[in-house]
Amino acid sequence: ENRDFGEIWMDGKYVPWQEAKVHALTNTLHYGAGVFEGVRAYESDKDSSIFRMHDHTNRLFQSAHIIGMKIPYTKKEINDAQIEILKRNKLKSAYIRPMAYYGGEALGLLMNKLSVRVMIAAWDWGSYLGEENLIHGIKVGTSSYTRNHVNSVLSKAKANGNYLNSIMARQEAVHNGHQEALLLDHQGYVAEGSGENIFVVKDGKIYTPTLTSALAGITRDTIIHIAQNQGMEVKEIQITRDMIYIADEAFFTGTAAEVTPIRELDGRTIGSGKRGEITEHLQKTYFSIVKGKMPDYEKYLTRYSI
Ligand code: PMP
Repeated sequence: ENRDFGEIWMDGKYVPWQEAKVHALTNTLHYGAGVFEGVRAYESDKDSSIFRMHDHTNRLFQSAHIIGMKIPYTKKEINDAQIEILKRNKLKSAYIRPMAYYGGEALGLLMNKLSVRVMIAAWDWGSYLGEENLIHGIKVGTSSYTRNHVNSVLSKAKANGNYLNSIMARQEAVHNGHQEALLLDHQGYVAEGSGENIFVVKDGKIYTPTLTSALAGITRDTIIHIAQNQGMEVKEIQITRDMIYIADEAFFTGTAAEVTPIRELDGRTIGSGKRGEITEHLQKTYFSIVKGKMPDYEKYLTRYSI
C-alpha cells in the first residue's frame, strides 16, 4: 500500500509521513496507556471547517486527566497544530487523529517517569461504515462481549486500551455477517456500538442510553441539541435489546460513523427496514451543520481555508 499522509505533527514538529516513527519499546505500544481523539473537518461552500474542535480537544485533555497523564502542550497548541496540519496537507475535508502516548524510556506499568508524546495526523477518510449505508442502513449484531465495566476501565476516557473490547466486538460482528456490533453493559443494558453511540425512535420519541458505560459522544450531543432545538424530546434511559427489535427506527452516531441508520439487529428488521423518517431528518440536518450551511450552529465550526 502506497500511503502518503503528507506531514504528521509530532511533539511540535512537522514530520514527513515516512519519517513519523516511534521506537519499538514505546510504552503505549505494549500496554495501551494512551488517549486519542477522532475529529472531522468538512468542506463547506467557501472554505472548510473543523467540527467541534474545542470539544474534542477538551475531551482529549479530560481523557488524559482520567488516566493520570499530563499532556505537555496547551489546548491552544493542540488546536493550532490541527489547523496547521490540514493546511500543510491541503486537506479540505479530513479525519484528524490526535493522540497522546508514553515514550519508551522504560517498560513496566508505572508511567510517572515517562515522557508524554503527542502526534496529530490528518487524512482523507470517507464514510466509516460505507457511503451507501448512510442511506440504506447497516446490519448489527449484539456482541458476545460485554462493554468494559465502568470500574474496570473508565469509559469517559477515550483511551487506547479501552478499544481492545471494541475490536473484539467489531471483528466478531463482521465475522458473523454484520457490519457493526452492539455492546451491552454488565447488567445487560444497551451501551453503544464499538465506536458509536446509539439512538432509537419509538412512537415519534427519541431515546438514547445513559452514559454509564458509553463514551460521551460529541455527535450524540450534537444530535440531542438538533432534536431539542426542533422541539423533539430525547430521553436518556436504560435501553434493552428488545426495545431495539421493536423500535420504529434506530441509528448510530459518531465522528467517523456520522449518522448511520441501523436496519437490522440480530436478524430482526427494525421498523420498515429502511432509513427512518426522523433518522433521515436528523442525519440531513447533521450534514448541513458540519458543512457550514446552518448559521445557528456556526459556534460549532472552526473555519480555515487552504
Ligand atoms: N463510543 C465510542 C466507543 C467511540 O469510540 C466513539 C467515537 N469516538 C463514539 C462513541 C462516538 O463519539 P463521537 O461522537 O465523539 O465521535
